[in-house]
Amino acid sequence: METVKSRITSQVKAANGFLDVEICNYGKTDYSGNVRLYDYRDIPNFLSGNPFILRGYRANLPISTCIRSLFMWSNETINIWSHLLGFLLFFCLMINDLVFTLPSYKTHVTDYIVITFGLLCFQYCMLCSTGYHIFNCHSEKCCQWWLGIDMAGISVGVIGCYIPALYYAYYCITIWRDIYMFTIAVLTLGTLILQREPEFKTRRWFKIRVLIYIALTAIGVIPTIHWIYLNDGFNAFIVQLFIPKIIVLYLLGMVALTFYLSKFPERYYPGTFDMIGSSHQCWHFVVVLAFIWCYYSGQEILLYRIHNTCIL
Ligand SMILES: [Zn+2]
Repeated sequence: METVKSRITSQVKAANGFLDVEICNYGKTDYSGNVRLYDYRDIPNFLSGNPFILRGYRANLPISTCIRSLFMWSNETINIWSHLLGFLLFFCLMINDLVFTLPSYKTHVTDYIVITFGLLCFQYCMLCSTGYHIFNCHSEKCCQWWLGIDMAGISVGVIGCYIPALYYAYYCITIWRDIYMFTIAVLTLGTLILQREPEFKTRRWFKIRVLIYIALTAIGVIPTIHWIYLNDGFNAFIVQLFIPKIIVLYLLGMVALTFYLSKFPERYYPGTFDMIGSSHQCWHFVVVLAFIWCYYSGQEILLYRIHNTCIL
């Protein structure tokens, strides 16, 4: 049977004038109007990142059909909806905070800015990821462009966790607060600039890419240890209150990364988790969970700051 790959080869040859073949019918809908789904062996190279997901691929869809495929079942459906619903969740939390929660706390304008900034970063991350998973099947160029956007979204999501945490943890030590916030902002900007390099998005750079994101996340250990030291160690009430939250956040990050890198569970049962339960879907859910955890921890430390004035 002719595979999609062979059809593409034929199409390329036809374009070069070697062969006069039927135009590739890739990405079209079938007679009932459903998007055609392909097996792994049939998809173009740029979509072939996970050999353990065997079925359910969309391929070379027009933009309008990519959007329409939101409401169709494919191996990207849960990836799309997990982060689209994540976006809606953080959007609702932002509106709720701006309209109800923050006014009830009688907080300062900077609290509005910091809390809103964190939630906007999460929303941006969710939307970038949603866009990538909707449009990655359109073409290789489109896939690469959205991959860059998706990666930028991860960096922005990470800084959305950092800024409220640093702002409230170092609320009373403004010099260190500003130093750490500035450092994290510069490092994030550095990763965003790096992501603009076309080479950065290639598979050859996969390990370096992952290492950069791990470094960007792990560097938060430095202000955490410094913060424990400045608060006179583990006996301080504030340290006892928030260190478990930071540990849980890092554990969630490790769980998310483990799914992302290991391709578990589909690695051990290829074809079983094509539509539901794949590693990338788990990575998406754990990322949303980590952002929710980060948000609620931020709310608690904000409340702590409202009820406890700085002792200088
Ligand atoms: Zn994703």
